[in-house]
Amino acid sequence: MFEVVIGLEVHVQLNTKTKLFCSCATSFNHKQNTNTCPTCLALPGALPVLNQEVLQKAVMLGTAVGATVNRTSYFDRKSYFYPDSPSAYQITQFYTPVIQNGNLEIDFQDGSKKSIRIGFAHIEADAGKNIHDGDISKVDLNRAGTPLLEIVTQPDMRSSEEAILYLKKLHSIIRYLDIGDANMQEGSFRVDVNVSIRPKGDEKLYTRVEVKNINSFKFIEKAIAVEVARQSEAWEDGVYNEEIVQETRLYDQEKNETRSMRGKEEAADYRYFPEPDLLKAVISDEMFEKYSQIPELPDAKRDRFVKEFGLNDYNAAVITSSVELAHFFESMMGNKGVTGKTATSLLTVELLARLKGELNISNSPVNAVKLGLLALRIDDKTISGKAAKDVLDYLMENDVDVDGAIETLGLKQVTDTGAIEAICDEIIAANPEKVEQYKGGKDKLFGFFVGQVMKASKGSADPQAVNELLKTKLG
Ligand code: ADP
Ligand code: MG
Ligand code: ZN
Repeated sequence: MFEVVIGLEVHVQLNTKTKLFCSCATSFNHKQNTNTCPTCLALPGALPVLNQEVLQKAVMLGTAVGATVNRTSYFDRKSYFYPDSPSAYQITQFYTPVIQNGNLEIDFQDGSKKSIRIGFAHIEADAGKNIHDGDISKVDLNRAGTPLLEIVTQPDMRSSEEAILYLKKLHSIIRYLDIGDANMQEGSFRVDVNVSIRPKGDEKLYTRVEVKNINSFKFIEKAIAVEVARQSEAWEDGVYNEEIVQETRLYDQEKNETRSMRGKEEAADYRYFPEPDLLKAVISDEMFEKYSQIPELPDAKRDRFVKEFGLNDYNAAVITSSVELAHFFESMMGNKGVTGKTATSLLTVELLARLKGELNISNSPVNAVKLGLLALRIDDKTISGKAAKDVLDYLMENDVDVDGAIETLGLKQVTDTGAIEAICDEIIAANPEKVEQYKGGKDKLFGFFVGQVMKASKGSADPQAVNELLKTKLG
């Protein structure tokens, strides 16, 4: 039996306003090669200057994962020649990264937890983009010099499930800290997966491959599966086979296979050496004090939602996994009198089901304040939970206030017991046989009476009041 060993490297594009070593804008979708200057074009004589905002974001991440922040870190040159890198080297942190020895806790469905060690995280500059267009290749350097934080784990994960849990947690933390948008499709959260296998019980690390070019959680899972299958095949009768070489492989999502991209022999010789054009990056006490202020993180928020709003663990985890959902939920709870239960079901069941296509939680036509008020109208018994669904449908289409919508739709619940009592009496009088049968022990008929009263009231009667009144009247 084999055990899978996985270590992950994630490149997070930091959402600073300007690039890592120059004042060019980092924004996307600008005309090609317009966000450039002598520094990020690597023209002779132009010197890099460190963007302090990058240090701040690195310290925030370090604080979030309980890592050591090196108050003095250094930059190094990594040599490689590729058209999208005009300097023919990348500035990175090889010898002394800004962050080391962190931890990130993942949660399994059964409630158990596991800690994944983050070996280090370092700052580096992104390359530009090569655009291939038929026979021609073009280079866009707008992205050259954009700040990246590369976050590298120890080989601590033992299944694709653990890898995905780690990545989702890291992704969520980046979004909570608001240090990057972490959009996988757009390449601002890039994952390299290192995979090896070994006989179960063996402590030794065997030769690994690094799989690149995977841009969704689903494909990461698949890539790990095909890679494990390939490596298992290479081991013969439990004996390690030289077929597995340390190499970089590319995942092909169409063919669902990995292919060798470059082997060890062709591995670039990076010739790292200290970057002579930059000063060391120093984080003073004052800076550290300021930079290490971070917002409440997903785990803490999840635990607080359970305690403060009475959510169950599952719902609390679902809501806090996304910073937008969590904030939306919290502003709903800002309406005094709203229960966590009602807010949860309106948000995670009703609203999310109605957000389709272009609509998402950030541009929802029904905002948190409105949905919170709708929840309050259920909890204060103005409307029934069932009627709330119709009100929500109406609010999705019409920009009106909640009480106005309830009024327009005529869905106000009748809580006036006198009125409900009259309907109950009517129904009882109209069904003497059923009343006999019920009194004779046919308990199931109770539902029939409730249904009839609700129907007669056109759904507007408060079901709880109906239940109570019928119980007394039918004995
Ligand atoms: P390199 O210096 O070649 O990039 P590192 O030691 O920095 O190698 O490791 C890169 C990534 O590969 C890390 O995430 C690490 O945990 C992972 N890794 C290292 N050895 C193995 C292995 N045998 N199996 C799986 N992952 C591994
Ligand atoms: Mg590496
Ligand atoms: Zn520039």
